[in-house]
Amino acid sequence: NAAEFSWPETHLTLEGADFAVVRHKDGSGHFVRLLTYLPGVFFGHIRPHKIELLRNLGIFLASMDRALASFRHPAARRDLKWNMKCAASTVHSRLDDLTDRETRTVVEYFLDRYEKNIASKWSHLRTSVIHNDANDLNVLVGHRSPEPDGMYSKVVGIIDFGDMVDGSPAVELAVGTAYAILGTADPLAAAVPVVSGYHQVLPLTEEELACLYDLIASRLIMSVAISAEQRKAEAANEYLSISERPARELLRRWRVLDPGFAHCAFRQAAAYEPCPHASKIITWLKRPRNRFGPVVELDLEKDGAVLFDLSVGSPELGAWTDSEDREELTRMLFGRMAASGAKVGIGRYNEARRLYTSDLFKTSGNDAPEWRTVHLGIDLFVDPGSAVMAPLDGRVHSFRDNDRPLDYGPTIILEHTAPQGVKFYSLYGHLAKKSMTDLEPGRAVRKGERIGRVGDSQENGGWPPHLHFQIICDLLGYEGDFPGVALPSQRALWLSLCPDPNLVLGMPESLTRPKSRSNEIPEILSLRRRHLGPNLSIAYQRPLKIVRGFGPHLYDEDGQVYLDAVNNVPHVGHGHPKVVRAAQAQMAVLNTNTRYLHDRLVEYALRLKEFLPEPLSVFFFVCSGSEANDLALRLARTHTGQRDTIVVDGAYHGNLSSLIEISPYKFDGPGGRGAPPHVQKVPTPDGYRGLYKSLDPDAGQKYAGHVQEAIERIRGQGRNAAAFVAESLMGSAGQIVYPPGFLDAAFLMIRRAGGVCIADEVQVGFGRVGTHFWGFETQGVVPDIVTMGKPIGNGHPLAAVATTPEIAASFRTGMEYFNTFGGNPVSCAVGLAVLDVLREEELQRNAFEVGRYLKSGLEELKSRHALIGDVRGLGLFIGIEFVLDGASLAPAAAEAAYVAERMRDKRILVSTDGPFRNVIKIKPPLVFTRADADRFIETLDLVLGEDALRPR
Ligand code: PMP
Repeated sequence: NAAEFSWPETHLTLEGADFAVVRHKDGSGHFVRLLTYLPGVFFGHIRPHKIELLRNLGIFLASMDRALASFRHPAARRDLKWNMKCAASTVHSRLDDLTDRETRTVVEYFLDRYEKNIASKWSHLRTSVIHNDANDLNVLVGHRSPEPDGMYSKVVGIIDFGDMVDGSPAVELAVGTAYAILGTADPLAAAVPVVSGYHQVLPLTEEELACLYDLIASRLIMSVAISAEQRKAEAANEYLSISERPARELLRRWRVLDPGFAHCAFRQAAAYEPCPHASKIITWLKRPRNRFGPVVELDLEKDGAVLFDLSVGSPELGAWTDSEDREELTRMLFGRMAASGAKVGIGRYNEARRLYTSDLFKTSGNDAPEWRTVHLGIDLFVDPGSAVMAPLDGRVHSFRDNDRPLDYGPTIILEHTAPQGVKFYSLYGHLAKKSMTDLEPGRAVRKGERIGRVGDSQENGGWPPHLHFQIICDLLGYEGDFPGVALPSQRALWLSLCPDPNLVLGMPESLTRPKSRSNEIPEILSLRRRHLGPNLSIAYQRPLKIVRGFGPHLYDEDGQVYLDAVNNVPHVGHGHPKVVRAAQAQMAVLNTNTRYLHDRLVEYALRLKEFLPEPLSVFFFVCSGSEANDLALRLARTHTGQRDTIVVDGAYHGNLSSLIEISPYKFDGPGGRGAPPHVQKVPTPDGYRGLYKSLDPDAGQKYAGHVQEAIERIRGQGRNAAAFVAESLMGSAGQIVYPPGFLDAAFLMIRRAGGVCIADEVQVGFGRVGTHFWGFETQGVVPDIVTMGKPIGNGHPLAAVATTPEIAASFRTGMEYFNTFGGNPVSCAVGLAVLDVLREEELQRNAFEVGRYLKSGLEELKSRHALIGDVRGLGLFIGIEFVLDGASLAPAAAEAAYVAERMRDKRILVSTDGPFRNVIKIKPPLVFTRADADRFIETLDLVLGEDALRPR
């Protein structure tokens, strides 16, 4: 609705006229008028242009054009150099002003296209009066909400109606789009949302969409030509050439784009079948009268076939962890075929694959890298040398050895003709080189004729021997090759260009359909809403469906790769093969409970003991950090005969009833009911925001003083403290590192009062802090009880309590301690493997080195970005606290949330926490590398520079 937007309005002169004329002394004159001021920020001054904003630009332009649709004015039919109907003369007459040869060449190229494709089309396009200059310094963007995530996502108005002419809505859209996509790495990806927004309000015709690529280019060449002329007139005016440079660069990129592909993309944006003639071809292929021949000699039913699941989350690929290792892949796939006596293995169409998540298939999008993972053909894995036949009549279009590593190797493309002369193609990739020598382009090929043989791994880039068979409705500008995998963001477009090859192969559905059901994200969300506890939270506004993890990386269902900077549970890396093998091997042999003797249980206790100071030598094995902490409380309370517990404000110790009672993070948080009578809270020893700052050398002592006060409060009620429980470094409280001396002093006080000291290492243990194996060691203390969880089993539900023989003895009251799963042989095997990997891969040292490197990079960012108030942490346990103002420390929670979301958009995962949710938590798997740290810092730097974070 055009009324949503604001438009400049004219003020009448004192005489009541729309404008006045100002006369100069020399007799010349100027028209003058007064317009209202429109609030907002120019589109061109805002970065980034998020998809939502680009879409909104389209919606805005279409709303304006809809309002103008019935407007007519005689003056609109005027001669104007900016009128696109005159583009040819505007550009021609200025060609000689284009002194740069490269620019002139590209301008001439698009001028030629204009004359061929557009000049004669005007009568087919709708006509109406248009604004005609929705450039990035005329379009105004406003704040939709005061929060950064809603900022600058809406176009609110436009100025400068001086170029209005009788034009076409398609021109309006083309002009707006041309400027909106300036400076983008992938201009087409940025143009698509503008088109789809426009179409939503004012539907575009197929003819208009067919012109769009050239209309956008036409505006750009007009702009470049006119600036060149102005530059000639005012050679000293640097500004003129500065504004021209991005247009020239965009022309260069636009020239590289395939016009046919852009056409399909625009059609898709407007909800038309992307490839205009795909449906004709598909209808013909589906005709029951068509009988196609086989493409390989084997009879799929008689010779046996196995369907492979090569999807990203495929359990079949479990053992194949390195996406570069194609030899292992070959052994695995052919091994599976041999085992089931099958001569053919089938790889599916429209499958996002784990195989393509390596750097080879990585592209740099406008906002984040994207991997081309969606398979567009069907693979038939067969022995090398197997004959390949033409399944239908056609002629040879091309044969070529495409030998870049991501290509198909030797490839044949045949051309076929459907009724009405519609051409389509079939592609045969990964053939043997010498098998194709007698094929001449243009030669007729009969159905059933042998056209080549399947190549071996040596000649097809190392891939397992197979035929890649693909149908192509439009070869676009490709000659002799064609993409076989597509970006998931362009899936519908490519599937339209390349319909299901099974239309020709005719295999039974059991050999082509996905093996397991996969729900779309909205479907999962709705099932969760109905059938899972409603207070499970979901990370990110755009939830992630993660199906695989390896090392520091997580993979979503489309095979897009995320750098995991927040999950500390997969301590030695997601899916570490050694840990996985240990679990699988032991699982296959025995999994029982601790009432039978087993070597692994005692072996594991002895191994853990090596990492702990005396006298911590007795272990209980449990299944979660919460169970460990609950048991620690029972030990302490039984040992002391007391119940009162002292805890640190902001702490979280677990989800059991007993632990909600001692977790201020929960009992003082949403839905909490405050501290129960037996729990005393002491202030968070936070040297940045807390009572005493880190510059105070006595801060540790002073914070500990509050522990003494808590002891006194308990005494005042006629009781004594049972325990002081503290995380060794605090997680949920906002990645807090205690000031020196805090735990030492507090432990002394508790012990003097007869209580015991419990260190919760669930979050930070096992080398994460880098300098030491345990967090408490950084404070130079020895606790009476240590609880461990999360990283201890790398994701396997394993946790433990370590304590002294004395406390363990007190717990022997006659009541059995039995934990069904705790300490089972599988868990112990996993725990041992984690300790082995930690040592073998020197991960504690890595945490120290990469952590120090990352932290210094973040400190450098702090010196440049006022939003960062504090960077703190040890090893790979780091927090970044965001504040609106360094003096008041007003928490910048919305900004922190924005940063986490934008990092996710750029495929790096972090979370926010702390009492004000203004701390970004960094606690990646310890296999995080220096290169990962570099990427983290660069990305955060970019996000912090975004306009939505400008001071409010
Ligand atoms: N203690 C701390 C410090 C924790 O961070 C957590 C989990 N976030 C727990 C205990 C509870 O562990 P779990 O979720 O495995 O029960």
